[in-house]
Amino acid sequence: MKRSFLIKPMLDDDYPTAKYGKGIYIYDENDKQYLDGSSGAVTAGIGHAVPEIIEAMHAQAQKISFVYRSQFTTEEAERLAEKLSHIEFIKDGEYCSFFVNSGSEATETAMKIAIQYWQEQGKPTRIKVISRWTSYHGITMGALSLSGHSERRKRFVSLLDDLPTIHAPYCYRCPFAESFPGCQLKCASELEGAIQRLGADQIAAFIAEPIIGAAGAVIVPPEGYYERIKEICERYEILFIADEVMTGIGRTGKMLAMEHWDVKPDIIALGKGMSAGYTPIAATLVSEEVMKPIRQGSKVIMSGHTYSANPQSAAVALAVLDYIERHHLVEEAAENGAYLLNELQKLAKNYPIIGDVRGKGLMAGVEFVSNFFSKYPFSKNVNLTNRIVATARDKGLLIYPASAGIEGGDGDAVIISPPLTIKKHEIDQLIHIFRDTIEEVQGGLMM
Ligand code: PLP
Repeated sequence: MKRSFLIKPMLDDDYPTAKYGKGIYIYDENDKQYLDGSSGAVTAGIGHAVPEIIEAMHAQAQKISFVYRSQFTTEEAERLAEKLSHIEFIKDGEYCSFFVNSGSEATETAMKIAIQYWQEQGKPTRIKVISRWTSYHGITMGALSLSGHSERRKRFVSLLDDLPTIHAPYCYRCPFAESFPGCQLKCASELEGAIQRLGADQIAAFIAEPIIGAAGAVIVPPEGYYERIKEICERYEILFIADEVMTGIGRTGKMLAMEHWDVKPDIIALGKGMSAGYTPIAATLVSEEVMKPIRQGSKVIMSGHTYSANPQSAAVALAVLDYIERHHLVEEAAENGAYLLNELQKLAKNYPIIGDVRGKGLMAGVEFVSNFFSKYPFSKNVNLTNRIVATARDKGLLIYPASAGIEGGDGDAVIISPPLTIKKHEIDQLIHIFRDTIEEVQGGLMM
């Protein structure tokens, strides 16, 4: 292996070198084709090397690529914020955007704004944010404090804020050993218990991924869950932050996933699909209701980065959002997502290592078990998720390794989330390679 000076996620792994991409495919240095079945990390929402986006990048670079946000605003950043505020589902809330560079910064900013909202109203004790133990909100210390992803937390636990958590709405393995609807949504009601235990005057907000991604491989809550959560938040005057970094911008068949339940968050974190991976940009969207005391109070949000509201990235995000609109990709994601899920569910019937298939839109999760009936997970030594991801990659399919959702980060699962531009015949190709992968990995297991 050639000496590399690049620090990669796994230092000893031999990664293929990406040479170029086209649509839903990526090609390596040997022109081997990979179907991007996960949009990278659920990011490349419109596929690779789309000519309209390249043109927008070029046009913006000829104008200006950088200004410092304390010295200038730009037409591109202003237009992007306006466009996001016009998302049909949330437009009544007059949300303003604070631009950052990553999903981690977006959730961390959301946390800071929630705390500031209370400070401006003379309630400085409201600083805790309740989250769910099965969650991933980002890798910076604040965002990691909100996250229950044990593998990513374990080295830093003593530095992280010890924030309160509740269980996730993980029906496949109900944390209360019940089933829906008989459970009466204990997982949602648990929020009330947590608030009462801590005292509402200590709590700024509750944060949740509408559909859990990396930490739970697409855990979709049961009907009524978010309605109950919102009702509890309102009763105790706690802000509701939706982390739509993975689910936002059409991924689940709606522009924002919270639209599935018609529940409006006070603050929304966006990232990934916003610029579909072409340049880094993310956003914290804040409702006017939350902005009001800040406007009337200190008039400044104490956060921000050198690259915040970068015009090059804003221009790209605008072009991506236009592209999604013009090609009706949100509607396509709903339709093709239903097809993908159905095909995965059919496939699962033949492979007992597949315990559960779940999803919404083009965000599907597949959870693996060593015993289909007891749902017993594979031992960590089997290294199943990595074996499946590596075998799929060898066969020319990229899928995203995730935790199954078992608290503590145990359990094997993958996320399948191709670009929203994928066509049915390409989904057939994806399913074909995935079937070959499962066949080979299952066949190689001592069961
Ligand atoms: N929030 C969610 C729901 C995510 O899935 C992620 C990343 O996977 C993040 C936040 C962090 O985003 P980033 O990796 O861009 O910092």
